[in-house]
Amino acid sequence: VGSQKERVVTEEEWLQKWETGNIGFHKEERHPLLQKYLDVLLNGRSGLRIFFPLCGKAVEMKWLADMGHSVVGVEVSEQAVKEFFSEHSLPYCEEPVPEISGAKMFQSTSGNISLYCCSIYDLSSSIVGKFDGVWDRGALVAVNPCDRQRYASLMINLVEKNSSYLLVTVSYDPNKHKGPPFYVPESEIKSLFG
Ligand code: SAH
Repeated sequence: VGSQKERVVTEEEWLQKWETGNIGFHKEERHPLLQKYLDVLLNGRSGLRIFFPLCGKAVEMKWLADMGHSVVGVEVSEQAVKEFFSEHSLPYCEEPVPEISGAKMFQSTSGNISLYCCSIYDLSSSIVGKFDGVWDRGALVAVNPCDRQRYASLMINLVEKNSSYLLVTVSYDPNKHKGPPFYVPESEIKSLFG
């Protein structure tokens, strides 16, 4: 844990990963843990607002939207966002986000998938509203260790009282791999999210 504490991956480095196709984190198959815990996320409810922090081009966004939920994602790479829509043959429109300089929002023409192209730290509930569910895979574990507290506080702010938050982490010896994904011990998750 100590060995990763100081590590920083810049926005530029993430953009470069997308440009060079160094995106081993992207999976074409739906995540087995989302399938397994879908009922926990939905809790019998329909028409939810579901948030995908650091969304990349996660295929689960299309899956949940097809179930009738409204999906919102945030991703710094415009390439990732465009690839998401083109790989699923989804027409979309693109508009500026007045509250965030330089940010764009890409929305499927059907209106049920909205992807913000900006840093997650630019968002607030006054811009994106609050969510009933969160799918956090490759998100908390991709955040720089020094930004974890800020990330968790923001996420707590973005969820409704009766929301469900599915978090996927990875367990390994942090001395053997520099990350991301970073190792976030369970004790830290408890102190971050309460
Ligand atoms: N959750 C996705 C992608 C995981 S990789 C999946 O399951 O496939 C992490 C992603 O976060 C990358 O696509 C990277 O470009 C993006 N990212 C990194 N820092 C970010 C930030 N501050 N705000 C928004 N997106 C960010």
